[in-house]
Amino acid sequence: MAEKLENCSRLCIHTMTTKPWTLREAIDGYVQEGVPAITVWRQHLEPFGPKEAGKMLRDSGLQVVSLCRGGFFPATSGTAREAARNDNRRAIDEAAEIGAPLIVLVCGAAPGIPLPEARQQIIDGIAAVLPHAQAAGVKLAIEPLHPMYADTRSAVNTLEQANNMVVALGSKMVGVTVDVYHVWWDANLEGEIRRAGESIFSFHVCDWRTPTRDFLNDRGLMGEGCIEIRKIRAWVERAGFRGPIEVEIFSDELWSQDQALLVRRIKNAYLRHV
Ligand code: ZN
Repeated sequence: MAEKLENCSRLCIHTMTTKPWTLREAIDGYVQEGVPAITVWRQHLEPFGPKEAGKMLRDSGLQVVSLCRGGFFPATSGTAREAARNDNRRAIDEAAEIGAPLIVLVCGAAPGIPLPEARQQIIDGIAAVLPHAQAAGVKLAIEPLHPMYADTRSAVNTLEQANNMVVALGSKMVGVTVDVYHVWWDANLEGEIRRAGESIFSFHVCDWRTPTRDFLNDRGLMGEGCIEIRKIRAWVERAGFRGPIEVEIFSDELWSQDQALLVRRIKNAYLRHV
């Protein structure tokens, strides 16, 4: 048992993975199962507020890996773009308050905005909030999303595009998140992971189910799909990444089940397949 816990020493669970749980229930449920780390989603933070949530998290002893999520920079009007930037500044304040050193950016896209233009708006948006992030000591990670989300969720669809943005922004505070669900299909993945190197700020795992019954909420537990998770993990580690391994699963099927049991299944799947 001790060895098993030791092997889970890098395991982190996203509160979205146990979406039906409140933040309080998630904290207690993870601690109960010996999960050492948590990534907090803003919707779980909201009912408690960052101050109370920060206290709960510090009292729990859990490592807070990141706050999800910022981003959604592109918009058709300047007013909407400024509103998005202000929301990101609020997210940075929340991250600082709960002790999260990192915000993951789902960068955004909007029908009607050509993708190259959306990408420029993303770079401009990150540049605009970067001083706020620097002052708060909170890093920003650009997470490329699978191209099936290029209409409304992100115009950043490959790790190459994310790496290019990191280069364009030229700040140690900006890096990338490698989420196997979004990038596993990419023939250039290994090379782009190597290129990202120290700018890999976080690593997300789940699996790609066949057939996928829903574009958003049918992700699988590790081992239930076709992603070569261990191979990708080896690539990010070869690139220098030593951080927590975060289980982020959106699944209507898993959310309908007993969440305490789900946490135990996650630990098993992590030990066998990650
Ligand atoms: Zn992710």
